[in-house]
Amino acid sequence: MHPFPHLVWALATLLLLCAGVGAAETVQPHAPIHSVTDIAHEFSFYFDGRFARNYLSGKGNVDVRNWGTLHKCDLSRVNLLVLPTGASPCPYLPEDVKAVRAFLEEGGGVVLLGDHALFRKEKTYRLNELAGAFGAEFAKRAARAPLSGVGELEGKPIKTYGGRTLRLIGAAKWDLLVRDAAGNLVAARRKVGKGKLLVCSRALAGHQPDAKDPINAAWWQPLLRDLASGKPVDPRRRPHHMEAENKESREGLEIRYSSYMKPFANEILAIYRECRPAMERIMGVPPAEGMLASLILLPTGGGGFSSGRTIGLGTWWGGFPDKRYGMVELLGHEGTHSWVLPFSEPMWNEGIATYVGILLGRELGYTKEADATLANWLKGARRHDPEMKKFDLARGKDVPHAVRMAKPMWIWEQLRQEKPDVLARYFRLKRKLADPRKLKRYTADDSVAVLSQAMGRDLFPWFQSLGIRVDRQASQVPLP
Ligand SMILES: [Zn+2]
Repeated sequence: MHPFPHLVWALATLLLLCAGVGAAETVQPHAPIHSVTDIAHEFSFYFDGRFARNYLSGKGNVDVRNWGTLHKCDLSRVNLLVLPTGASPCPYLPEDVKAVRAFLEEGGGVVLLGDHALFRKEKTYRLNELAGAFGAEFAKRAARAPLSGVGELEGKPIKTYGGRTLRLIGAAKWDLLVRDAAGNLVAARRKVGKGKLLVCSRALAGHQPDAKDPINAAWWQPLLRDLASGKPVDPRRRPHHMEAENKESREGLEIRYSSYMKPFANEILAIYRECRPAMERIMGVPPAEGMLASLILLPTGGGGFSSGRTIGLGTWWGGFPDKRYGMVELLGHEGTHSWVLPFSEPMWNEGIATYVGILLGRELGYTKEADATLANWLKGARRHDPEMKKFDLARGKDVPHAVRMAKPMWIWEQLRQEKPDVLARYFRLKRKLADPRKLKRYTADDSVAVLSQAMGRDLFPWFQSLGIRVDRQASQVPLP
């Protein structure tokens, strides 16, 4: 399964989010907050701009993201550091702990936003490597509703998405802020040097992709202002967004990764080297001009994205590094998005991407895994439509996801039985016939016409018999 099928927009969105969340020149009722939100320990497909958009959107505030190794992040223009982490194998290094401590000592505010969760067979919840250094621990025990405010939050309504509890260890003095119904701690704050540290369940903050769920904003906002108040920042000196700091160019490909991802970089690059020529054999053409020029390794097991020029690969996708097939399929999937441009595929942009990933798996010798993946997709689609005749990929609405993905695979499998190289033929012809200087858009009708040329016969009647409403007359591409 590809849980994030529509991520071509992701990098564009990223650029928008990195631009920050407010203007600096306006008269402000509050001192500005310059925050860094870390996504280097757990990449989020919403780039965790969600936290800043929900709680730090006040005038003069600026939020940037850290994609790189935490202790290398420049915090000189920053007075708030937000560290959200879920189940991730990505460590907090001793140098990271040192850097966070130094930032606190000089007056910075730090938010550890988490809930105890383990990644696969990992034994450690990594955010505890940081919390533990300051005398707190994210605990396994679930928080029991209702939650209530303590101390300065006494009497304030506390909303939650669930979440877990905290434990305090050692002798440090903490301000207790939120407890659950059984008296367990859910949020607490302490002083460290001139700064303040907040340890809090992630469930007390909004998490919707659109960042339109600012739960508890009434107390989050003053709390964050207080956390940041120990270190004034100059509104004219905006903080910088930090990219993954390791950058290498190899064979025309730029690869970027943080030090946390370094142990995986060589093997992923080796897989890419194997995949690249095989992809070109399958697709019959090189990637579209200027596309697939850079690769980013993402600290997640949750999929990847393609912006055309750049593809992002979830480093732990499909059981990697223990298993390799998933990474091959993911590379094939995201690579295909770069290959099919300048026109994405109108009927099957996601289905064909996963299908190419499967073919790539077969080509590189992962026949068993590839065949099992295909069989699984087809089985899922047949639950909705045993004969593959019900749903219209061209003009249909409410096509189930399983069908949207797997009916294209079934169609291409039928055609490949007749002409095993039909994909290569199709994409070669598409490059020739769908010229962006002549065509404004590329439609389902056009793609069936190109496919007809690739097969050497008119495929419109067959597509119509499969319940796909395509129109030969509407095609801008000539038929064979
Ligand atoms: Zn995709």
